[in-house]
Amino acid sequence: MQSQHLMNTYKPAPVAFTHGQGAWLYTTDGRKMLDALAGIAVSGLGHAHPKLVKAIADQAGKIIHTSNLVNVPEQGALADKLCALAQMDNVFFGNSGAEANECAIKLARLYGHQRGISNPHIIVMERAWHGRTLATLAATGSRKAQAGFEPLVTGFIRVPYNDIDAIRAIAAHNKDVVAVLTEVVQGEGGIVPARADYLQALRELTAQKQWLLMIDEVQSGIGRTGKWFAHQWAGITPDVMPLAKGLGSGVPIGACLAKGIAATVFKPGNHGTTFGGGPLVSVAALRTLEIMEEEGLLANAVRMGEIMTSAFQQALAGVPGVREIRGMGLMMGIELDRPCGDIVNMALESNLFTNVTQDSVIRLLPPLIINESEAREIVARLVPVIKSFLAHSARAAA
Ligand code: PLP
Repeated sequence: MQSQHLMNTYKPAPVAFTHGQGAWLYTTDGRKMLDALAGIAVSGLGHAHPKLVKAIADQAGKIIHTSNLVNVPEQGALADKLCALAQMDNVFFGNSGAEANECAIKLARLYGHQRGISNPHIIVMERAWHGRTLATLAATGSRKAQAGFEPLVTGFIRVPYNDIDAIRAIAAHNKDVVAVLTEVVQGEGGIVPARADYLQALRELTAQKQWLLMIDEVQSGIGRTGKWFAHQWAGITPDVMPLAKGLGSGVPIGACLAKGIAATVFKPGNHGTTFGGGPLVSVAALRTLEIMEEEGLLANAVRMGEIMTSAFQQALAGVPGVREIRGMGLMMGIELDRPCGDIVNMALESNLFTNVTQDSVIRLLPPLIINESEAREIVARLVPVIKSFLAHSARAAA
């Protein structure tokens, strides 16, 4: 039973967990459940990873917080590692995906002002998701999320996703644009990958116009798609990259990386936060990245993604109501032809923890450490749920 003293912002599923182990979660009522969501792309190492637990415990025993009024060596070590992996120049640490995007938006505006653009605008995408703070809510392409919070922050121009001509048309006449902000795989938007040729054309156009290309890898980054960052599949590098979710394995962290001219925009006093990049979270994130390397989790994400995709394709081939199975690595969506929110609770009854986004897309974001038998088990548990849901809802409609 949920406490009456929590603000009415969530509608939690009827389950709670006492602990986890690897890709498995243990419920308060004694069930063992397979985790196909990883806390929404956060727990890439699964639950209670012994190396991570030790690193966090050791650091907690030394020092948890100091503030950014002093040098934080652990933060520096994490920045070095992240910049090396991403081929970026520097990074600001915050506490969430929204904050990482908020930093990117502020950086782009300041960049504009430094170039003499007094009314800077950022191009954003339909169905984008960048967070729920006021600025990131305005950048987010969901009227449902925005409704009631007007007046929205101005300075955003929205275009269809995967449509380079829409951006070229704006480039032809608008002198106030300073940046383009996009995801590489829209996550909340329904697991929709951007085409590689679109990303490459966007990279070329933004460079030519001296706009910043800002790629939100909050959900798709940190190995989720089988590369450290999903844009690397297209062979491009952004100017600005917000990160969060998988970076701290559940210890809250956001990061905004910058490269080239974007890395020179902020000066002391322009931006900051009390908790960002503290010793504890920095160690958690650095250790997360190291463990991912030690355990070959990028390659594992590719392999497990392939196994699951082909198993779903086989099992759901020709099933009426299944529109598309898509994704990259372990960021997968199964789109049905009807709203399917009920699938979450049906899957829970089969001891599988999953999610539905955009009403009709079953979203799978399992831990990156899953092995082949767990990957096949997710498919084995979900397929009968999907079939039964489709049969039942078809009957109900008839
Ligand atoms: N950006 C993307 C691509 C996301 O998927 C999300 C959250 O789902 C966010 C930003 C916001 O992150 P947070 O919920 O940590 O504020």
